[in-house]
Amino acid sequence: MQNDIQEVLISEEELQAKIKELGQKLSSEYEGRDPLVICVLKGAFIFMADLVKNITVPIELDFMAVSSYGASTKSSGVVKIIKDLDQSVEGRDVLIVEDIIDSGLTLSYLIKLLEDRKAKTVSVVTLFDKPSGRTVELTADYTGFVIPDAFIVGYGLDYAEHYRNLPYIGILKPEIYSS
Ligand code: 5GP
Ligand code: MG
Ligand code: MG
Repeated sequence: MQNDIQEVLISEEELQAKIKELGQKLSSEYEGRDPLVICVLKGAFIFMADLVKNITVPIELDFMAVSSYGASTKSSGVVKIIKDLDQSVEGRDVLIVEDIIDSGLTLSYLIKLLEDRKAKTVSVVTLFDKPSGRTVELTADYTGFVIPDAFIVGYGLDYAEHYRNLPYIGILKPEIYSS
């Protein structure tokens, strides 16, 4: 698995330092509000776990699984809900936890969905942002790292369901895609 990585883009230490910082910001933002923190599966699962450990105010958690990519590296634009939330978002302060925003299609669909379900507020924290990939206008409320237009894996993010368990962010060797 390590042999498939061409370059480590963001180390484990850099990730943890940034997540601590995001947790502190969110803790002061959501002081006294009891937000519903929603993890967008599968990509955000490790980020979610590390992030909530750094949030010091009361929160509730829920999980949602969506699919927009299949096994490809580009968004299809069609968002499919694979697992919906367990609870209602009506009247809640909702924080969506995303792994990465590329085209913005997945997130704009999700934001609209939660607004239609009458969430009180909908905010987004994303660990990574690739502004160069945007096809719809969208900015996260909180962003960890702005990254160049490369396909990254690790720390929850996959290529064809592999590499999610790498503790850092890497770029795959080009021959992995073509094999
Ligand atoms: P969007 O709808 O914004 O184009 O893409 C959102 C989803 O596509 C992300 O939540 C993530 O699952 C996947 N994605 C986008 N860029 C990358 C990337 O560089 N690497 C990986 N592994 N997944 C990505
Ligand atoms: Mg995602
Ligand atoms: Mg994926």
